[in-house]
Amino acid sequence: MSDKSYLEWPFLQPRHAAMAQALDAWAAENVPDLVGEEGDEDAACLRLVEAMGQAGWLAVAAPDLEAGEQLDLTSLCLTREILARHAGLADFAFAMQGLGSGAVVLFGTPEQRRTWLPGIRSGERLAGFALSEPDAGSDAGAMTTTATRTLDGYRLSGRKTWISNGGIGHQFVVFARLDGEARSTIALMVDAQTPGFVTEERIDICAPHPMATIRFDDCFIPESARLGDEGAGMKVALSTLDIFRPSVGAAALGLARRALDEAQAHAARRPMFGGVLGDLQLTQAKLAEMAVDIDTSALLVYRAAWARDRAGMGARITREAAMAKLHATEAAQSVIDKSVQIMGGLGVRVGTPVERLYREIRAMRIYEGASEVQKVVIARQLAGEFAKSR
Ligand SMILES: Cc1cc2nc3c(=O)[nH]c(=O)nc-3n(C[C@H](O)[C@H](O)[C@H](O)COP(=O)(O)OP(=O)(O)OC[C@H]3O[C@@H](n4cnc5c(N)ncnc54)[C@H](O)[C@@H]3O)c2cc1C
Repeated sequence: MSDKSYLEWPFLQPRHAAMAQALDAWAAENVPDLVGEEGDEDAACLRLVEAMGQAGWLAVAAPDLEAGEQLDLTSLCLTREILARHAGLADFAFAMQGLGSGAVVLFGTPEQRRTWLPGIRSGERLAGFALSEPDAGSDAGAMTTTATRTLDGYRLSGRKTWISNGGIGHQFVVFARLDGEARSTIALMVDAQTPGFVTEERIDICAPHPMATIRFDDCFIPESARLGDEGAGMKVALSTLDIFRPSVGAAALGLARRALDEAQAHAARRPMFGGVLGDLQLTQAKLAEMAVDIDTSALLVYRAAWARDRAGMGARITREAAMAKLHATEAAQSVIDKSVQIMGGLGVRVGTPVERLYREIRAMRIYEGASEVQKVVIARQLAGEFAKSR
């Protein structure tokens, strides 16, 4: 780990710094082999999740509330940042265990937590979060997947797309419209073995990870698999995203730190004009701008995590979460682009670390709310606070 000074910031406690050091050492030893070569991301994710489960890191993603553990957003962000710095796919595999089970941690009954979480913590089962649809992405409220009430549960029908872990996931939290009513939504836990659950199409993206369009052909889902009340589906989804948006910022921060490390190492050794690239002031300016972007991102990410951890389980941190995700992902894109520039041709050579980072960062500005969506969220929050202050 290059710059560790942020571990001393007041947003973090000594236990966070200790965890960061231990995870960094574990990741340095294990992640390269677990990730392997690009090309078989399904197998790599299964290996990563199993190893992280055995090493105990997945407890951060799916805490055992009955045993007195808490959903600690600071630990979640630190874990994502560190894993992303080692490999984007390691962060992805960890993050999905959290995103796919966060709704159970936040809204599940003790019985539901006992049913859905142990396999996620141990790394024996993979989780997913199914909100987006072909015609409902940024406008998630336009979803048409429908849950129709029966005597003892629901019949689920519809299609979800861009679903991470689709094709390999064992369980998904699925958001649907209740009885097709315009304003009423519902969150259901769905086992991928349920009759009528279909992986319709695998989707390839520029930084590969398991992803698919999934379909529900009249799946029966028992009432015991409903999270929260009928009508509260969007609340469950948005509360989960409140937690995970800062953690997307944290992952972007990890990618940016790696890009700076790679750029600094290259600038220090690349001979140029009788010295090295790093002697040139235009290079130094880029490195300085990258460092400022990284620190501002870290401040916003850990501010959001601290605000949530301080306020406790039910707290919403909508403004802080949106700011952290917006700034950290946009800044990481800029940091990584500068790193590519410093590397010259090596920055675009397929398979180099910076070329991988260049592909890995792009989707983070789109998923879990595109940057434009985050700006709308922040502006709405500001307008609300302004109206209250008058
Ligand atoms: C790698 C990856 C992983 C994903 N994983 C999951 C997952 O696990 N589960 C899941 O449910 N979904 C997932 N998604 C889907 C993701 O959340 C959506 O792609 C995202 O919400 C955008 O929806 P869309 O792609 O339909 O784009 P659209 O909604 O069509 O938006 C297109 C563009 O419109 C712009 N835009 C949006 N709102 C505004 C506005 N108010 N003003 C101006 N411009 C605007 C933005 O630039 C946006 O990128 C994933 C996507 C990707 C790329």
